[in-house]
Amino acid sequence: MSRADRLASRLAERELDLMLVTDLTNLRYVTGFTGSNGFAVVGRDLRRFVTDFRYVGQAEEQVEGFDRELGPQDFVTALAEGWPEGGLRLGFEDDHVSVRRHTRLREVIPDRVELVAAGGMVEGLREVKEAGEIEKIQAAAALADQVYGTLREQGLAGRTEQEVALAIELEMRRLGADRVSFPSIVASAERGAKPHAEPEDVAIPRDTLVTLDIGAVLDGYCSDCTRTWATGELPDDLAGAYDLVHRAQAAALAAVRPGPTGREVDAVARDMITAAGHGDHFGHGLGHGVGLDVHEAPRLARTAEAELVAGHVVTVEPGVYLPGRGGVRIEDLVVVTAAGHRVLSGTTKDLITVD
Ligand code: ZN
Ligand code: ZN
Repeated sequence: MSRADRLASRLAERELDLMLVTDLTNLRYVTGFTGSNGFAVVGRDLRRFVTDFRYVGQAEEQVEGFDRELGPQDFVTALAEGWPEGGLRLGFEDDHVSVRRHTRLREVIPDRVELVAAGGMVEGLREVKEAGEIEKIQAAAALADQVYGTLREQGLAGRTEQEVALAIELEMRRLGADRVSFPSIVASAERGAKPHAEPEDVAIPRDTLVTLDIGAVLDGYCSDCTRTWATGELPDDLAGAYDLVHRAQAAALAAVRPGPTGREVDAVARDMITAAGHGDHFGHGLGHGVGLDVHEAPRLARTAEAELVAGHVVTVEPGVYLPGRGGVRIEDLVVVTAAGHRVLSGTTKDLITVD
């Protein structure tokens, strides 16, 4: 079944006749189109794809199984026509459509077509990856591993965080990445206590920890991997934090398989970190789904009640952040399989010194 067919088969669950797909990532997933302007309407017997003049040729190459149209100058007015007979319920992505866009849609679309908030429909399909998608994520993860290999050779101490971040990005592009999944995090010493620190124009000191959180986009799919490396002898508190996060990450990883909820897997790491007295120093969720977006469903967190199923690709990334001292996060990318899981990140998690 094509992705569009799968979307069509789920419309009845929300009592919809049709779905309007406007979010570009969802549009890519459903139609294959990678351009920056277009939309699709999907129903049981309808496959309509509209783009503008710039992308007509690209759509011919990428979009199969849809009636392809060149939209008018005032793009949204394409939706004034082309509807099946009678009263219709049209789902739209209320988690992506602005209030202004919604007003405009309502003006253009005939009154007999009811606009129904239906966010998350395509994201729900995207959660469970196809074999080909897992291969692409695996390749993006392998690329990040290669970058870690280069960084180990280049060393860290004495270079500025910004220099290292730039080197990461250059190496990714040199290895064929489309782009970075997110701005790389290079956070040394006390800056490592901020989970999402921005690289600064400061030299990385010796005898501390450096958190490196990197990801590449390859063929549209993201990777995401964090390692925390030492730049020499560590003070006891940082060495202890590393050991704790290392053990908590391994335990949570071992719990990844079909069946448990995101909350239950999160609790494996959180309970260990809390028992060690660092519960307040682990303020974020354990992990998130990765695919066309670097953050997508499902989540591994205290509030995540959905069960893991085979085909989910998630991160497992506990952390401990000690204000004024430093931080540790260790993050693997992992695919849930029928038998359990397979880790896609290949860089060692043993504490290594890169000075
Ligand atoms: Zn990350
Ligand atoms: Zn992550």
